[in-house]
Amino acid sequence: MLKIINYINGALTAPVSGQYIPNFEPATGDIYSYCADSDERDVELAHRAARDAFANWSCTAPEKRMHLLMRIADGIEKRAEEFIAAESKDNGKPLKLARAVDIPRAVSNFRFYAAAAQHFASESHEMPGIGINYTLRKPIGVVGCISPWNLPIYLLSWKVAPALAAGNCVVAKPSEITPHTAYLLAQVCIDAGLPDGVLNIVQGTGAKAGQAIVEHEGIKAISFTGGTETGRRIASAAAPMFKKVSLEMGGKNPTIVFADCDLEETVKQAVTASFSNQGEICLCGSRIFVEKSIYDKFREAFTERVKALKVGDPNDEDTQIGAVVSAQHKEKILSYIRLAQEEGGRILCGGAEWSTDQRSDRVKNGYFILPTVIEGLHVNCRTQQEEIFGPVVTLTPFDTEEEALTMANSVRYGLSASVWTNNLKRAHRMADKIEAGIIWVNSWLVRDLRTPFGGMKASGMGREGGWEAMRFFTEPKNVFIKY
Ligand code: NDP
Repeated sequence: MLKIINYINGALTAPVSGQYIPNFEPATGDIYSYCADSDERDVELAHRAARDAFANWSCTAPEKRMHLLMRIADGIEKRAEEFIAAESKDNGKPLKLARAVDIPRAVSNFRFYAAAAQHFASESHEMPGIGINYTLRKPIGVVGCISPWNLPIYLLSWKVAPALAAGNCVVAKPSEITPHTAYLLAQVCIDAGLPDGVLNIVQGTGAKAGQAIVEHEGIKAISFTGGTETGRRIASAAAPMFKKVSLEMGGKNPTIVFADCDLEETVKQAVTASFSNQGEICLCGSRIFVEKSIYDKFREAFTERVKALKVGDPNDEDTQIGAVVSAQHKEKILSYIRLAQEEGGRILCGGAEWSTDQRSDRVKNGYFILPTVIEGLHVNCRTQQEEIFGPVVTLTPFDTEEEALTMANSVRYGLSASVWTNNLKRAHRMADKIEAGIIWVNSWLVRDLRTPFGGMKASGMGREGGWEAMRFFTEPKNVFIKY
């Protein structure tokens, strides 16, 4: 059976402990590989390799860095079918989604930051008649990149690519629930000729490998994406060491639908925003607020579309909703559906596991939940306040723009929001007042890699994307020269 091991100092390396964690295929519930159960000893080896590589890598010409990152992108593209199959098998997402989104996006991340390596420049500020300041942006050293299971290679590459482009060496840890594509990435890096130690991938749990990265004195910055509680732990461990920290965390994003929207298009897009990747995207719109005058019409059209979504084996080309990532996560989602009912919610569709009678033998024991729509819940109840991170959304009517705004801002999160209206002034007002780092108007998940990405409140600290990431992964140093 496949053994997923570490990538340290340019070589695929077994964990020091010799221990492995079983890795399940969510669609079948079967173990299909074993993932290295690394600990602080592996992190120490990775750190040493990265530290030793830093002197050369930080002085490598940007053009050469650019070529190497491009070669990594080409390497992923060449093995795209392997990456797609691995991502779908590991995470439970439809093969079609991994083909359309995850793998092309990982390729784009490497290409985007390959270009950034060449274009990132120092600034200068002249003081006329006095002198000139120039600001160098130096790579930090060895940095840690910790990523979650929902978009495994997409989010790992979103961190690793800018870190390397800026001249840092990296110790990365993917989620042990979805380690496979990071393992393939290690092979691609070897084939691309990335110098030894520049990127190190330590596989294993957050409690052991992740914590060891955060606590390592020699790892000077941490870029983390994951849950808010994990982010809090990381922030408190990193603060006494004055580490630079970037946190991308949970969300409970509003989809706000006004009566003057294009209803058909809004319903279609709201379904996508709710259930893409089984609702396991931090940007999914899980709280849908609809102006009262069109509430009934919206509910009917929305629920009809959700019922028509095809839940199925991720390998089938017509599957729209695959398996959720783990048995444990499935139980968490089901417990929220029960909670919603206790809190007075009415299930309009879904609300249960996908019936085993309708499944093929291959996926009989997989972790599938029907896309679920709930109405009748108070905006302050737990179901509407806590992140479920699964195929579950709530519908709530509102009377006025102010009420919609209050509801949207009523959670501790502030990652993203989408607003559906044909009133331009209202769109601007809402975009101005919603407490979120990313606002889409009449759209959802349109991404331009140059824009700042991240959340406010309990959703994030710092931003990724474009120059934001290059700035995070560098330390500015100002030099003044007197005329
Ligand atoms: P977790 O917070 O559980 O894990 C994220 C990563 O951190 C994993 O690699 C995990 O390892 C690791 N980790 C866990 N504990 C520690 C620790 N003490 N020290 C260091 N690392 C640790 O998140 P999930 O993987 O469950 O991902 C889902 C969450 O991610 C959701 O809340 C979602 O909203 C959020 N997310 C946010 C995004 C954003 O851009 N804002 C984008 C995507 C997801 P292990 O797997 O072993 O637990």
